Order: sequence, then structure tokens, then C-alpha cells
Amino acid sequence: MRKWIVAGNWKMHNTISESVALARAIKDGLSNSASGEVVVAPPFTALTAVAETLRGGAVQLAAQNMYSEDKGAFTGEISPVMLKDAGCAYVIIGHSERRKYFSETDDGVNRKVKKALASGLKPIVCVGETDEERIQGVTESVVGRQVQGALAGVETLADVVIAYEPVWAIGTGKVATSAQAEEVHAFVRSLIRKLYGAAADELRILYGGSVTKDNVAELAARADIDGALVGGASLKPDGFLGIIAQMP
Ligand code: PEP
Repeated sequence: MRKWIVAGNWKMHNTISESVALARAIKDGLSNSASGEVVVAPPFTALTAVAETLRGGAVQLAAQNMYSEDKGAFTGEISPVMLKDAGCAYVIIGHSERRKYFSETDDGVNRKVKKALASGLKPIVCVGETDEERIQGVTESVVGRQVQGALAGVETLADVVIAYEPVWAIGTGKVATSAQAEEVHAFVRSLIRKLYGAAADELRILYGGSVTKDNVAELAARADIDGALVGGASLKPDGFLGIIAQMP
């Protein structure tokens, strides 16, 4: 039985005090975490303060990105050692905004995934097709390439989470239907089964893209959807807690 995950990606939102207030409201309002995991990903500047706020509770901390080296002359980057030190358990890798605005490639994502795992961080690896790619009918080849690229050389999947996030659904209010999402999730799981055998049945695959408390139940009811990566709706306690409350 796979444990669901609901992860909130706060993106470039919230000062330290705003982040602490949001984290506190989520920690205090949480009532449904026994059968799953709840994760928040504040901006880097707020990680340590949010870690302190979450201490002793059930909510886990994630970073939104990392670099693939432990330390060195990489101005502006943050290493996995620093994220562990700040209290992170998870790290989001290869979000479509990083691929689009910061030119992240499948190779770069792969380096980060391997480094995260070697450092004891659990990567939440984001994949997903653009609107044009869906229209052209190449969703599976795009997502398949991204998944295989991200996992090249990764021997064990125990700590890996994949987030299927169709780019056209992110921040647009245009959520994928549960049938559209399930189709891609099932495809990803079948690909993983070919590569890793039975470990595919343990892999958590999250859906992301305009998830709200009004649409999450239908998505989460699907066989291969193991939770949600949530952007906009994770920025308000009610929105995020409302999603968590509906997980099975
Ligand atoms: C995201 O950025 O990962 C995301 C899913 O955003 P939103 O929920 O706002 O579409």
C-alpha cells in the first residue's frame, strides 16, 4: 500500500514571517496525516525558520531546488548538504518552471536526482508535457524521455517520488481530468515496471497542476495517483488543509 503525499510548493512567495505563519497554521490545522505524508516547500530564505516551526509535528520540509555539488565556487547555488542542515527531507527537482526559465535539462535533472539520493534527500522529480506537445500527441514520448533521463543510473527507487505536472495545467486553473492524469500516471508506472520490475508498485506518483480542494478527491481516487504537488492552493492554510482532508 503506497502512502499518499500532499506537497505544497510555495514557489517565490512568502517572507520569513509569512512562511512561519503559514507553516504554523498548517501544522496546527492538520488532522489527516496518519495514512500519508504532508510536505511544504518554502523559499530557501525561510527553510530554517519553517523547520523550527514544524519541529515535533507531522509536516515535513522540502526545498524547491538544489545544485548537484556539495560545495564550491557556484555563486548563487544551494547544496544538498545545506538543505539537510536546514532540516529538509525532500527536494523538488526539475520543476517545469526551472526547465523553462532556467534552462534545466534532463541531464542536469539526473545529476541532481543522483546527488539528492546520495545525500539522503528524497527527490520529487517533476515531469510533464506542454500544451503543444499534448496537441501533437507526443505526451508519452516527452514524459517517458523525462522520466528515463531523470533516473538514468539510479539503482533503487525507494526514496524517489515522481510528480506528473502537465505544463498547461500549472497555475492556469485548467486541471487535467482525472482520466487524462491517470492515463499518464499508468504509463509512467508501466515504464518504471519495465526498468525496475516490482519496485514500480511502491513508487509514489503525484499529480500537479491546478489542484484544489474541489478537484483533488476525484484525482486521488485513481489507481495510480498517489497524491498531489500543489502550487497556488498551498499558499492559504484553508486551501492546503482542505486538500489534505480529502486524501484517503
Ligand atoms: C506547481 O507549481 O507545482 C503547481 C502544481 O502549481 P499550481 O497548483 O498552482 O498549478
